[in-house]
Amino acid sequence: MTQLNRRELLAAGAVGALAAGGAGVGASLAAARNAVPQPVRGDDGAPIIGPRNVAVERENPDQISPPATDAGSVPNLKFPFDAGHTRITTGGWAREVTVRELPVATQIAGVNMRLKPGAIRELHWHKAAEWAFLLAGRVRITAVNVEGANFVDDVSSGDIWFFPAGIPHSIQALDDEVEFLLVFDDGNFNENETFLLTDWFAHTPLHVLAKSFGVPESALAKAVAPAIEADGVGPPEGTVRRPYSYPLLQQIPLKATGGRVRIVDSSTFPVATSIAGALVEIEPGGMRELHWHPNLADEWQYYISGQARMTVFATDGTAGTFDYQAGDVGYVPFPMGHSIENRGDETVRFLEIFRSDRFADISLSQWIALTPPELIQQHLNLDRRTIKALPKRKPLVVR
Ligand code: MN
Ligand code: MN
Repeated sequence: MTQLNRRELLAAGAVGALAAGGAGVGASLAAARNAVPQPVRGDDGAPIIGPRNVAVERENPDQISPPATDAGSVPNLKFPFDAGHTRITTGGWAREVTVRELPVATQIAGVNMRLKPGAIRELHWHKAAEWAFLLAGRVRITAVNVEGANFVDDVSSGDIWFFPAGIPHSIQALDDEVEFLLVFDDGNFNENETFLLTDWFAHTPLHVLAKSFGVPESALAKAVAPAIEADGVGPPEGTVRRPYSYPLLQQIPLKATGGRVRIVDSSTFPVATSIAGALVEIEPGGMRELHWHPNLADEWQYYISGQARMTVFATDGTAGTFDYQAGDVGYVPFPMGHSIENRGDETVRFLEIFRSDRFADISLSQWIALTPPELIQQHLNLDRRTIKALPKRKPLVVR
């Protein structure tokens, strides 16, 4: 059951008023919970009478009935993975959100991938760096770096990994069912622009392969790719000094009154030099405070659970409000102000991702609290007591 908020109640009132002519019954609480949002705000607007898609409307109440503070044309900042094309393969499936699906998202692209037990995302490399969050199951990841040092690690749900651009790697599902999110530091990233080992084999003359590997052609005649022995690979250069994986959930989170935040960037995960992230949890009734990010990067979001509402403030008095739920991608162009409310009754969990070596944010309330109060008093017409009550430490997630 979703917790009702004022706007949904208002929308329910509009439905009830409409229904009163027909059924002659006022909206019960149950009916109110099932209310369909209407483009009605007080005396303004009017209910939709043409064709409508109620399931989509319920997921986007703030598009149907935006707050009166929204203004102007803010670009679309939402695309659900569920609305994208899914590529089904023998080993599972993959779907992506790139600039083709979400045109504003020029800096980051995302891929949601499922592997069946034992399935392998084969040895490959690509132009973009890859940051990943394991949503379910266990996988073995492998890589080799420019020094000839190797990396083999088994990672579990909640762990992340990072492969710099051009570094060859593989992902193998272990015993469990596996699903993960891949994030690339290029909104134009195309899965088809991946350099696959098997492709290279297939498109290289046999004598070139044989000569390069120093083995007879007969040994390679039937090979698609050599068998992979992940265990017992002992390179002369040893294993990598900076691991490509990071156990995010083992990090002690920054506690806040309305939730918690785990930040991972190159200060804690040194190899992740081009993608920074944060796992944010907002309890029911909580809100990621008004803030923005000065790290020269757009914010790419992935919603893992709960129902969220984000209001984004652009320049020139424009603002827009968007609703998100599990599986949705959100976006905030650099350096627009924003806040994210939990509008449901379950914890909102989402990732904030930046094409940057570091996570950085500016808290609006902290900024005001640390500015001379005389100036604030004149500028905003706030009284001293209100200014004094503002937090001097970043609240991150408020209640
Ligand atoms: Mn990859
Ligand atoms: Mn943010």
